[in-house]
Amino acid sequence: MNDWLAHRARATPDATALVWAETGDEWTYAALDDAVDDLAGRLAGLGIGPDDHLGMLLSTRVEAVRVVHAAMRLGATLVPLNTRLTPRELDDQVELADVTAVVCGEATEQLAVEATDAAESVPLVSLDEPQWEHVEPLSAASSEPFDRADWADDDRLLLLFTSGTTGDPKAVTLTYGNIYSSAVASAFRLGILPEDRWLVPLSLYHMGGLAPLYRSTLYGSTVVLRGEFEPGPTADDVDSYDVTGVSLVPTMLKRMLDSRGTLADSLRFVLLGGAPAPDSLVERCRDYHVPVCPTYGMTETASQISTARTQEAVEQLGTVGQPLFGTDVTVVDEDGEPVDQGELGEFVVSGPTVTPGYYHNPEATEAAFSQLGLHTGDVGYRDEAGRLYVRNRKDDRIITGGENVDPGEVVAVLREHPGIEDAAVVGLPDEEWGEKVAALVVARDDELTAEEVEEHCRERLAGYKLPRLVDFTDELPRTASGTVERAAVREILTAPDRVDVADA
Ligand code: ATP
Ligand code: MG
Repeated sequence: MNDWLAHRARATPDATALVWAETGDEWTYAALDDAVDDLAGRLAGLGIGPDDHLGMLLSTRVEAVRVVHAAMRLGATLVPLNTRLTPRELDDQVELADVTAVVCGEATEQLAVEATDAAESVPLVSLDEPQWEHVEPLSAASSEPFDRADWADDDRLLLLFTSGTTGDPKAVTLTYGNIYSSAVASAFRLGILPEDRWLVPLSLYHMGGLAPLYRSTLYGSTVVLRGEFEPGPTADDVDSYDVTGVSLVPTMLKRMLDSRGTLADSLRFVLLGGAPAPDSLVERCRDYHVPVCPTYGMTETASQISTARTQEAVEQLGTVGQPLFGTDVTVVDEDGEPVDQGELGEFVVSGPTVTPGYYHNPEATEAAFSQLGLHTGDVGYRDEAGRLYVRNRKDDRIITGGENVDPGEVVAVLREHPGIEDAAVVGLPDEEWGEKVAALVVARDDELTAEEVEEHCRERLAGYKLPRLVDFTDELPRTASGTVERAAVREILTAPDRVDVADA
C-alpha cells in the first residue's frame, strides 16, 4: 500500500485535514498532499530515502505534520525526538536509533547542533533560515523525483522512544501494521465519523500526539493542532473549532477544567491516559458532562491497550475499560502463570498493535516477551466484565504532569555532584502534577544547599525530571538487604522541616 495521505487525498481532497489552532489557518487533504510532495521531493534532493532514519526534532508546528507524512511517502523510518531532553540525552538517542539525518527548525536548531556534536556525521536540515553553517536550509534544497514507497504490514514505520522510566529509553520498532491496527481498533471502540475534529495538544514525540496524525488520514477526519499547551486557550479551542475528540494526560485535563469549569459540548470523547486518572477527576467529568474515556496504553502497543467508554468510566470508577478489539491481555503472577479475575498481577499483551521488539536491543526484547506476549511491567486486575484496572508499576517510576521520570536516572545525576555522597529519589503526591520528584540527599559536608543541588540537576536533566523538593539526611534508610526503603524516604521528605526548592 502507498502512503495513507495519498489515498486520503484521492478519496476526499476537499475535506479539511489540518487546522492550526493558534491562527485558524486550514489545509484540505489536497493541499496537505501537495505540501508533503514538495517536502518529500526536497528531502529526496538531500539524498534522503527508504534506508534513512529521519530524526524529527521539532516543536509542534504545521510543518511537523508534513515531515511525518513525507517520511512515510519516502519510505524512511521516522524517529521523533523529544525536544525537552538535554543535548546529552538526545545524543544517546540519535546514536541508538542510527539516525542518519535530523530535521530541525529555528526553535530546535541549537539543540540539534549540540546533540549531534559527537556524532558529527549526522546531517542537519532546518525548516527555517539556519544560524549554523553546517545546517542545510530545506528551502535551498532542489526537489528530486522519488519513488513513492510501497509499504507492507510488517515494514518499520517508526522508531519511537519510551519515556525511560525503568532505565534508559528504549527505541520501539513500530510497523505500518501496528499503527494501522491501532487506528482501526480505536475506531471500533470509540466510533469515529469523518466529521470528527481531533484536537492535539500533546507532544508529537510521544504516541499520544503522533497517533492522531496518522489516524486522521485513515478516518478522513480533521486534526486541530496546538503548539504550546496552555489550559485556558486549549479549552477554548474545543469551542472555537467544534472539536469532537481530544487526547490528554490527567494533569492537562484538570488544569483545563480548573481554568474554564467545563468543556464545550461539541466533544464526543476525551481520551485520558498516560497516567492514572484520579477518581475525583472522572467524577468531575461526570458532573460537568465531559465525555471522559480513560485509556491505558504504551509506546510498545502503538498507544491504546484498553479504553473505557464514558458510561462505564463513570459507573466503574478506576477502570480503563476492556482491551481493544484484537488485543488480548492476560494477567499473570510472578511465575508468569495466569491469575483469576479480581486478582492482582502483571498485564501481558498480545495482538496486532504490539511491537515486534526493541531496536538493536535483543536482550530487552527477549526479557519483555514470553509466549503469552509482551510483559508490560504494569500491575493491575480484571473484573468480571473483563475491564482492566491499573494499580501501579512493578518498579517505582514517578509520573509528573504526564511525563515519566526514572528515579534511578535522577539519583545517578545527583551522585555526579562532588558534594553528594548518596541520594534517593521518590515521587510525592502533588495536587497540580499528580506526583513531584523529591530527593533525599546525603551530603559530604554541611555547606551544600538545596539550591546548589537543583542547579546541578538543571544542567543535566530535562525540566520535568528536576527534584522539586530536596532534603538532607546523614544516612539513607535501607532494608537489611541494602536496598533503599522508599516508604521511609517518603516519610522523611514529608516531615515539616524539609526545604521545598519551588518555594525557596
Ligand atoms: P520505559 O518503558 O522507558 O520505562 P514508560 O513505560 O514510562 O518508559 P511509555 O510507553 O511512555 O513509557 O508509558 C507507558 C506506561 O505508562 C505504561 O506501561 C503504564 O505504566 C503507564 N500508563 C499509561 N496509561 C496509564 C493509565 N491509564 N493508568 C496508569 N498507568 C498508565
Ligand atoms: Mg515502558
